[in-house]
Amino acid sequence: MSPIDTPLSAPLVIVSDARVNLLGFSQAKLEAFFAELGEKPFRAQQLMKWVHQLGVLDFDAMSNISKPLRETLKRLAELRPPEVLQQWDSQDGTRKFLIGVSGGNAVEAVYIPEGERGTLCVSSQVGCSLDCSFCATGKQGFNRDLTAAEIIGQVWLAAKSFGQLSEKGPRKITNVVMMGMGEPLLNFDNVVDAMNLMMHDFAYGLSKRRVTLSTSGVVPMLDKLGEHTDVSLAISLHAPTDALRNELVPINRKYPIAQLLASAQRYIQGLPDNHRKITIEYTLIDQVNDRPEHAVALAELLKEIPVKINLIPFNPFQLSNYKRVSNNALRRFQTILIEAGYTTTIRTTRGDDIDAACGQLAGEVNDITRRSQRYGTLGFPSSSALQP
Ligand code: SAH
Ligand code: SF4
Repeated sequence: MSPIDTPLSAPLVIVSDARVNLLGFSQAKLEAFFAELGEKPFRAQQLMKWVHQLGVLDFDAMSNISKPLRETLKRLAELRPPEVLQQWDSQDGTRKFLIGVSGGNAVEAVYIPEGERGTLCVSSQVGCSLDCSFCATGKQGFNRDLTAAEIIGQVWLAAKSFGQLSEKGPRKITNVVMMGMGEPLLNFDNVVDAMNLMMHDFAYGLSKRRVTLSTSGVVPMLDKLGEHTDVSLAISLHAPTDALRNELVPINRKYPIAQLLASAQRYIQGLPDNHRKITIEYTLIDQVNDRPEHAVALAELLKEIPVKINLIPFNPFQLSNYKRVSNNALRRFQTILIEAGYTTTIRTTRGDDIDAACGQLAGEVNDITRRSQRYGTLGFPSSSALQP
């Protein structure tokens, strides 16, 4: 497929004293960059293949690029992924990366193998400004948006670690979900550029069904999303009523459920292949949102919308008083939804021994809000106690 590239918002100015990092550049941005050098657009494709398919970052190794152009590139540009600070391998094959980004921050990315499928969970921000009551990332506060290079860099680093970036490398990463740290729609341009690279034929070549953006519900940005990309959509719903959702997902007070579901529906209806379903994520918390009446209300709420439902047992973490849903309540909840006609899966907890489960992604956030002071520090054993 040919993904839709975001248009350039401003002309590129090439200055010789600050080398521009081309790692996160979309095809359109690369073409504009090469045009300023008097080069043809096909240079963009050549560069993308070297970087994202063959893992080559050294301009000198790019044999189909002329020597003078390589010299110019070395002077003006660089290809710089973020740095893997630590890597943990779980017994179940899950691999977690702690990735250093500037400002003393670090984010996490997690690879989860499951049969033929290998899903990489990618972060979009350092921390998150939205403070959902059940989320470890939210408790850490917020520092900044990741750049497009830092987002696609997580895919590049993971693919590299699996030997995927070579002519006959194994296709280990088959799916990407924007479900790591941060709210992707609050870092719109960089997330869109990175996702479009994930799907680009000259980069990672993933199908649009295999790249998923998960959002807690930033409605104005969701309304814009379809103009820029055609990825799959997951909505973090977690409650069937506004009263309950206001408590769990505070952004609901600004954009309530009805607005969010209407916007999600407009998005999928606007896609060229309009048979796709919205994934509804529902984190089940003991005695909070896991009762049969919640399941019945959820079934009623979603009855006109093409959805599949993914139930996520709450992953406990220090600083949270919530408890994981009981197995009985989980099964009961699922059965009600299945009997109401919904495809309803349960997200099994993976990588638990390395704190790689949803909502346990923490990284290192130099918080610029006061939130982390209010909540205290997260006492995960991850960064120090576990050996890479
Ligand atoms: N900000 C985006 C994407 C990151 S969160 C969003 O909220 O959708 C990815 C998923 O993990 C979301 O559905 C989120 O609600 C869920 N999650 C967060 N903390 C969790 C926890 N402690 N246990 C289980 N799921 C959690
Ligand atoms: Fe942010 Fe998503 Fe966590 Fe909410 S669940 S605090 S939106 S990362």
